[in-house]
Amino acid sequence: MTATKIAIVGLGKIAKDQHLPSIARSDAFTLAAVASRSASGLDVPTYEDLEDLLKAQPDITAVALCVPPQVRYELARLALDYKKDVLLEKPPGATLAEVHDLMRLAEANGCVLYATWHSRHAKGVAGVKDWLSTRTPVSGRITWREDVKHWHPGQAWIWQAGGVGVFDPGINALSILTEIMPVDLHVTAAELTFPENCETPIAADIDFRGPDGFTLKADFDWRQTGKQTWDIEIVTKDGTVVLQDGGATVLIDGKSVSADEALASEYDGIYAHFAELLATRGSDVDLSPLVHVADAFMLGKRVTTEAFHDEQ
Ligand code: NAP
Repeated sequence: MTATKIAIVGLGKIAKDQHLPSIARSDAFTLAAVASRSASGLDVPTYEDLEDLLKAQPDITAVALCVPPQVRYELARLALDYKKDVLLEKPPGATLAEVHDLMRLAEANGCVLYATWHSRHAKGVAGVKDWLSTRTPVSGRITWREDVKHWHPGQAWIWQAGGVGVFDPGINALSILTEIMPVDLHVTAAELTFPENCETPIAADIDFRGPDGFTLKADFDWRQTGKQTWDIEIVTKDGTVVLQDGGATVLIDGKSVSADEALASEYDGIYAHFAELLATRGSDVDLSPLVHVADAFMLGKRVTTEAFHDEQ
């Protein structure tokens, strides 16, 4: 198998923590270049501008966009204009319509477009999806509480319009929810709490409804210090399943169940799936987590709280 030459765009936290190591572990990809406004001293060619990279190294066929959502669309269009296959970090765009436009362009240009949801590759998710597929859900609860100062230090873009605030981690929970649930849900109400000096929320409470009276409450909060919580509980007519630790741990009726250990990391799963998509020339763009976020913003009551200061 010839490894696909891939370029990374935006060498921030997730590119360094996950994309570089997963590409290095993968036989299917080889890192051929980086487009970065700030990186230097890498052992692959580095370009400040993506178009310079695409012109200089036409043998690169795939591009992984690891920039913030507000600047992803123009870069994705550029890569698709150059007929490259494109991997999008989550959330796939700042709006739904721009991702629809990317889907049309990818199709027209014969490119693979992959909107990644890394939490769907957490170890427990596939087994829970399977378990729920034969059951009738009655109610659910999502608790996604973490310390923004620990996980997102100095990231100004998350507080700017389009950065989605607490939905940046919250959409990971929604990506699991939309993967595991055997029925479709919709948002019925939301309360979004904005620091008085920020354009995006620091907390969100969201109510969902599904068929046959199913209800689910989601509690996203970025002000949690100490123990961090990333849990999803689904009660069914015959048993309760809890995904803990962001999908890595599974409890069924209170008993621990060993999850599938096949994936060394969520990002290895992402790159394995991207390789499958490239082999079959199929795109994978599921917008359902982003639809719930957009609906929460549309329905959400806005509450203002004290200013947020990201002390460094
Ligand atoms: P980050 O640390 O702020 O890195 C983003 C990088 O994008 C920057 O370092 C910069 O790299 C580049 N960039 C280009 N234009 C930019 C602009 N206008 N403002 C800021 N950066 C710009 O962010 P991140 O945490 O890696 O997140 C990037 C994406 O990955 C987000 O969509 C996020 O939701 C997703 N993600 C993050 C995590 C996580 O744990 N942090 C986990 C999963 C997914 P250069 O200087 O190299 O150009």
